[in-house]
Formats: sequence, C-alpha cells, structure tokens
Amino acid sequence: MSVELAITASALIKVYGADRGVVQALRGVDVAARPGTVTAIAGPSGSGKSTLLRLMAAIETPTAGDVSLAGVSVTTMSPRQRRALRRRTVGYVHQRPTDNLLPDLTIGEQLSLVARHRQVDPSAIGPVTDLLGLTDRLGHLPGEMSGGEQQRAAMARASVGSPAVIIADEPTAELDRATTHQVCDLMAQVAQDRSAAVVVATHDPEVMERADHVLFLRDGAVQSETFEGEERAVIDSTGRIQLPPEVLAWYPDQRVRLEFDPETNTIVIKP
Ligand code: ADP
Ligand code: MG
Repeated sequence: MSVELAITASALIKVYGADRGVVQALRGVDVAARPGTVTAIAGPSGSGKSTLLRLMAAIETPTAGDVSLAGVSVTTMSPRQRRALRRRTVGYVHQRPTDNLLPDLTIGEQLSLVARHRQVDPSAIGPVTDLLGLTDRLGHLPGEMSGGEQQRAAMARASVGSPAVIIADEPTAELDRATTHQVCDLMAQVAQDRSAAVVVATHDPEVMERADHVLFLRDGAVQSETFEGEERAVIDSTGRIQLPPEVLAWYPDQRVRLEFDPETNTIVIKP
C-alpha cells in the first residue's frame, strides 16, 4: 500500500434538499488522510461529521468539490465503479450497530463473506478477531451478542483483509472504557501495521487523544485542526477563517477591520 491509497477531499460542499428548504451540511471542507495514520473528526451534533464520512467513503457524492480514494477521483465515476472501488478499498462502520451486521449470518460467516469480497485469504480473519476478543463469538448471530460485542464485530468486519481506508462513524459511542480502548488499539494497529488511512468521527476524548490528527467541524466547515496535540485554526482555500462562537460574539455587527503586519506575519482583527 502506498501514498496514493490515501483519501483527499477538496472544497467539499454538500447540500441536502428538504421539504422545508435546503440544508448545507458541508460548506467547503478540505481534508487529507494519509496512510498509516488515524484521523479523528470531532464536532457538535449536526456539524457534518457523518456527511463528511459518507463522502470520503464514496457512499454519497458531493454537490461540489472532489474526493479521491486510492488515488482515483470518485466524483466522476459511475455508481457501479464507485461500488466496486469501495468494496475493495473501504471498510465502513456505520453509527447504528444494526446497520453494520446481517441479522441471519453468524459473525464468522459475515467475516468470511467480507474476506471473499475483498479477495483476501480467510485466515485474515484470525488476527482481527483475536485483537477484538471475538474468537469465541464466531458462531453467534448478532442478536445473540451484546451491543458492545456487535460494535466490535462491526469493527472487525471493516478491518478484515486490511483495506486501504477504514472509516468509522462514532464507533465507540455506546461502548465502555475497556472496549473503547480495544477499538482504539485496533485502529492504531490497522493504521500502523497495514498502512491504512483510518478516519473516525467521535466525541470520545480517548479516541481524539490517540489520533494522529484531529479535525474539528462546526456548521459544515473545518474550524481547526490538531497535529501532535497542537491546535491550529484553519484558513480555507478562499481565505476564510471560522471563529469560535464565543469569539464571534465580540463582533456583534460581524464587520471587522483587519490589520496586517508583514514584518511579523501578524494579523490583528478589530471591531
Ligand atoms: P453529524 O454527524 O455531525 O451529527 P450530519 O452530517 O449527520 O452531522 O448532519 C449535518 C447536517 O446535515 C444536519 O443539519 C443534518 O440534519 C443534515 N443532513 C444530514 N443528512 C441529511 C439527509 N440525508 N437529508 C437532509 N438533511 C441531512
Ligand atoms: Mg453523525
């Protein structure tokens, strides 16, 4: 797996039509996920996390902007080409546990099916189920397992055969600390050992802390990013910076004077 197997998304806009008007779920988001790293997408409910993940996984297409997956632009592909690429390269964990597993197949059968789809040897299942403590659950149906076990099985399903990209939507939201820790271990291991790009939407401080890169969304835009623990505000490709709401409140008429000091590369914002 090489560098071209990362995800890049540029200037993503997603508008949903609704009965009572349209919703701008994403307003120009740029993000790149490198192989071998875990990227966390944080932000309040409704900020666009799930939408961004669906676009990055090529489940949906953006209204404008581009997504490249495994070095290929997916926005110009036919739905069929997109599905084929997704099946080979993306492991996806949906937010709702019931969306991840087929009710009538045992966990072992589902993992074998995924191995076959990804054209990897069935022995690829072993390391993943060991790591997630699922080895003695392979004969169980999803309905015979706890919520935590089902979510671990969903992570296992996404990770079998080490796809280049693993995308998980709040996978630890309903898990206890110990299981969250296992899921973090699995994500780090898949990223490091198999050079996968792992992207995970989350509210969980442990998931954010252990990610290589955290991106904070607000109202469909990237407000800031954290690399190695240091948070930086993001300037989008048209030069816009998103201020936190408490700072925005300092400028009630939303008009400011900008002063630039080229000597020190400093910007001063004044009412
Ligand atoms: P998050 O995952 O951060 O909670 P979402 O991506 O689910 O945010 O939603 C972002 C915004 O887009 C919300 O206002 C949500 O109501 C809207 N939205 C998401 N999916 C759809 C859809 N399929 N149809 C209409 N609006 C949607
Ligand atoms: Mg969501």
